[in-house]
Amino acid sequence: MPFNLSLSEREAAGLKRSLPVIERVEGRRLWADGKGYLNFAGNDYLGLSQAAELRAAADAAAREFGVGAVASPLVVGHQAIHRTLENELADWLGLEAVLLFSSGFSANQAVIKALLGKEHWLWQDRLNHASLQEAGALSPARMQRFAHNNMAVLAAKLKPESGLIVSEGVFSMDGDQGDWHGLTQLAEQSGNWLMIDDAHGLGVLGNQGRGTLSEQGVAAEKVQITMGTFGKALGVSGAFIGGSRALIEYLHNHARSYVYSTHLPPPQAAAILAAVRLVQKAGDKREQLRERVRQFREGVASLPFELLPSATAIQPLIVGDERRTLALAAHLREHGCWVGAIRPPTVPPGSARLRITLSAAHTREDVQRLIEILHRSL
Ligand SMILES: *Cc1c(COP(=O)(O)O)cnc(C)c1O
Repeated sequence: MPFNLSLSEREAAGLKRSLPVIERVEGRRLWADGKGYLNFAGNDYLGLSQAAELRAAADAAAREFGVGAVASPLVVGHQAIHRTLENELADWLGLEAVLLFSSGFSANQAVIKALLGKEHWLWQDRLNHASLQEAGALSPARMQRFAHNNMAVLAAKLKPESGLIVSEGVFSMDGDQGDWHGLTQLAEQSGNWLMIDDAHGLGVLGNQGRGTLSEQGVAAEKVQITMGTFGKALGVSGAFIGGSRALIEYLHNHARSYVYSTHLPPPQAAAILAAVRLVQKAGDKREQLRERVRQFREGVASLPFELLPSATAIQPLIVGDERRTLALAAHLREHGCWVGAIRPPTVPPGSARLRITLSAAHTREDVQRLIEILHRSL
């Protein structure tokens, strides 16, 4: 056999992953193996995946336009609903233009591969998402990673006018924010471009949910490339790249996973459009989420696990050991709470953790229950 499919090493190290089958997800709750659980593992931070407005929009679009885009965007897949979505997204976020992708993973791959040649440098925060790290590794550019959020280390690595700095708005496994004042200053001084992956900031942070840059008071035009996803706080799926009109037209021509991939189904585009409209007015949901975050952090402060300094929906409890992390997650599950057990290689060795995610859909009682079970698990 030409391939080694053995997983025994991973299994021995407590690192083998298996695929659960979830029977039903309904915002704060999910069902699996015939049992109901409180869901603390999703990324539906505002509960929009269940919103009546999004369901109605997807329904209506399916009836009016059918369920498939039938072609890639440059052929006949780019329809009026996609254009409306692009325009409203750009207006909301203060971007000149955007283009839509069917996933954040492919958006990150596409933009890095389309822009960077072997003459370029790519500087990435060490904790950037796998889609960015992998795009960098596959691109011909020379990639350097810098210590998480460490501007002095980054400054020492930068070369003038020779590439792209990429960081996240809210780090997906840690919940803390990138230093966007520091990053924009270094990018300006060195004449390099800057890209933000705001998968976890969009909808949750900033004025009208515009994301991390708005939260930190950084002007959108200081960051040449904005990437956001629709699968987290917007409750649907898909992603966009935003920037200058010249950048977006360049990508229409060079982003291979855009050019050679069937465009987003119209019901999906319609649901995202409804989410974009709803999220701007969702200040009450954002406040409710902040309240749950405060409640959770107070409730677990006395546990013997490191709680990372996160003010966002992502609240990781660092356990360290892989097997202990799995055992804790199993204990929580036995008591009706579903949380993610995140292990290497998703996070650095020795930092296995429970990745607990909160949502505006959770009630005060839901969070109280999780806190109590965590205390009783010791
Ligand atoms: C989820 C995520 C992605 C990938 O987005 P998908 O639309 O789920 O493919 C990219 N970057 C970050 C930081 C993410 O958390």
